[in-house]
Amino acid sequence: MSGKWKGSDRRSRLPADWPAIVQRIKRRDQARCVARLPSGGRCPRREPQFPVQIDHLIPGDDHRDVNLGCKCEAHHGAKSSKEGTDARWGKKKITPRTEGPHPGRVG
Ligand SMILES: [Zn+2]
Repeated sequence: MSGKWKGSDRRSRLPADWPAIVQRIKRRDQARCVARLPSGGRCPRREPQFPVQIDHLIPGDDHRDVNLGCKCEAHHGAKSSKEGTDARWGKKKITPRTEGPHPGRVG
């Protein structure tokens, strides 16, 4: 199994019992997306009509049940792409500066 854990791709950081965790979280959440809608309700998507994925509520390596939840593909994808957007360089506004002595300065 040498080389199996090479690199730092996301899959390699998952624990060995990840498949069991997935099954447990899906059972706990009844394979239903836990995302909140802007209206305050919960996303109605669930398996088998809508495949769900296990999402880390707080991104990182916390694989405890409390940090995991089922998300439909749309919500899982939306969150992941938002994380990407947030990481993009911010919109910096450049204000032109006028050179010369301060107007309040008395020479
Ligand atoms: Zn959803």
